[in-house]
Amino acid sequence: MMREATMRDPRQEASAILKVDLTAIQQNWQSLDRLSSPDTETAAVVKADGYGLGAAEIARCLYRVGTRSFFVAQAREGAVLRDTLSGDFRIFVLNGHMRGDTELITTHQLIPLLNSTDQFARHRQELSGHPFGLQLNTGMNRLGLDPEELSEILSHEDANRAVLVMSHLACADEPGHAMNAYQLKRFHEMTHGLTIPRSLAATGGILLEDAYHFSLTRPGIGLYGCLPFSEARPVVTLDIPVIQTRTIATGESVGYGAQWKASRPCRVATISAGYADGIFRRLGDRASLWYEQQECPIVGRISMDLITVDISSLNCDPPYLQLFGEQQSVDGLAVPADTIGYEILTSLGGRYNRAYGTA
Ligand SMILES: *Cc1c(COP(=O)(O)O)cnc(C)c1O
Repeated sequence: MMREATMRDPRQEASAILKVDLTAIQQNWQSLDRLSSPDTETAAVVKADGYGLGAAEIARCLYRVGTRSFFVAQAREGAVLRDTLSGDFRIFVLNGHMRGDTELITTHQLIPLLNSTDQFARHRQELSGHPFGLQLNTGMNRLGLDPEELSEILSHEDANRAVLVMSHLACADEPGHAMNAYQLKRFHEMTHGLTIPRSLAATGGILLEDAYHFSLTRPGIGLYGCLPFSEARPVVTLDIPVIQTRTIATGESVGYGAQWKASRPCRVATISAGYADGIFRRLGDRASLWYEQQECPIVGRISMDLITVDISSLNCDPPYLQLFGEQQSVDGLAVPADTIGYEILTSLGGRYNRAYGTA
């Protein structure tokens, strides 16, 4: 695996190569695992195809370093994971037991995290005896049971068979935010007296105090090298091949709308990726790619499949330009894109060659 990525030379490739450093992902998981006590299990969130990077490869590499619980959003994602990875591990489904999911949940041994009394009723009716977890609303008001619904469920004998009770923090990336302590308090109140294993923390919650860790933590973004885990090892490198280069004269324009005009003679490279590859249109004129240590700004509008870049600062025509790597991180690009690393990663799309190994 490592060999494949290190051998893959962007100069030889027709489409961009998204390199995913699995060793870095393993190390990020181990670092996050060390932040909580040895009694706390560290799971891994691989929803949305492992934040766009490839859930199967990521789960496989994490299984090798000891991850035994994975979280996905939808049952279908869990089914794919169950089919591609062998071993003894649990798959939790954050969206719970949705209508039509029963078959997938049984045949692929998924554990739905039930969000409502309706889901609990469905689960009891259709899959009585099959493991489940309970998801609580502690203030985020997105998914989960309110206290009265939880009491109602707990009045059923089979509620004790829940294998996990969890909730999610709305503001864990802001350590000083009052919501953190508030949700922690609510979580304690709602789970008081229960002997079911508990989980509250995603990446941000792990970085708060031990009090947030409980029996199991659920990191996602930190594994993939992004904030709020500032100590994470970067995971992705993206080299995009140059299709064509040309010199343009002062006053000539580049791209759709002829919006960008050269104020001096320029050398422009056209590269093989665009907004269909998750490089948002709003990044036109606002972001740069890199060739080795040299910054090369995007000029003109970003097209669906192409981006034009000013390479005048280089003394050669480069074979490729780099979007993510030593000079620019995913979070670094999130700033001019007015978004967060999560959205950049999950937008990367299906057209890149993904190469797994050490970057
Ligand atoms: C996405 C998600 C996670 C992982 O969050 P990160 O911030 O990526 O670590 C954990 N728990 C729930 C409920 C989620 O939706």
